[in-house]
Amino acid sequence: MSQHRQKTVLSGMRPTGPLHLGNYVGALRGWVKLQETHRCFFTIVPWHALSSEYENPKVIKEYTFEVALDWLSAGLDPEKSVLFIQSEVKEHAELHLLLSMITPLPWLERVPTFKEQQQEIQDRELNTYGFLGYPLLQTADIIIYKAEVVPVGEDQAFHIELAREIVRRFNRFYGEVFPEPQMLLTEVPKLAGTDGRKMSKSYGNAIYLKDSPETIRKKISPMVTDTRRKRRSDPGEPDDCPVFTLHKAFVPEEKRAELAAGCRSASIGCLECKKVVIEALIQEFATFREKRAYYEKHPKLVWEIFEEGNKKAREVAEKTMAEVREVMGLVFPGGQSTPGKV
Ligand code: SF4
Repeated sequence: MSQHRQKTVLSGMRPTGPLHLGNYVGALRGWVKLQETHRCFFTIVPWHALSSEYENPKVIKEYTFEVALDWLSAGLDPEKSVLFIQSEVKEHAELHLLLSMITPLPWLERVPTFKEQQQEIQDRELNTYGFLGYPLLQTADIIIYKAEVVPVGEDQAFHIELAREIVRRFNRFYGEVFPEPQMLLTEVPKLAGTDGRKMSKSYGNAIYLKDSPETIRKKISPMVTDTRRKRRSDPGEPDDCPVFTLHKAFVPEEKRAELAAGCRSASIGCLECKKVVIEALIQEFATFREKRAYYEKHPKLVWEIFEEGNKKAREVAEKTMAEVREVMGLVFPGGQSTPGKV
């Protein structure tokens, strides 16, 4: 192990059900590597899911379990990382409340995803405090562990900028408690779903990590390819082919170059080309499927692993909150938050 202090990483996922290849390539695959070199906290965030799913919260527990299964099966290791459920560490809520006191409203109103998602999701009322405060809760999730590195996709960049601004403001008022978290931008190749649009659970076009080899075949075989390839003898352009986005994420470079050349010269057919990525996916998730089948049969074990993680997370979060209460003058004689009592 390195002599240097490992930097602290935090990242999270909303419990929206089983994870698809986009979630894997965009986050999970990188996290599995990060846990080798960093002190990692990975959290499933039910409170964030509630900001839009408040009318039907019952699914959140089931979805949390699905994400937990996928995490463990994909190689997140409770011996190396703290895997936990955000809403089981109540200190996040306290820090969120305290941060809400110092955060100017326009900082939240100008977050681009706030307006975008309000327009996108028309079927429910999102003009709520919770929805507006989403990035603030995210800030609390990150800084309560004094995370220095936050791996995120580009769409989350603004949220991390906001977290940094809030940290600066907090530290200016009360003293240097929190480090400014740095963004670790994950380069995410855009993965196409089975209908050629961006892979997304809500479009119903996703390929899931837990899909069986048969399902993977059934989903990819009929996928639309580059429309120039009407006949086998027509050359195509891999960069314009939705299927090839999967090749870019899962087929080794050398083989991919060979397929791209074959596509451009029409020396291979689409079926043959698809077969390569289908086999690559089946191979990549072989161990995953075995592990998932095991954990599915042992739900108690899964919840125990996460409860262990919740405990470890709580210890750190409690320590930070003792410090926060202290610098904010919120420690009262004999009170619950007296240092040493937490
Ligand atoms: S040969 Fe491969 S890359 Fe080319 S259009 Fe067909 S599936 Fe796409």
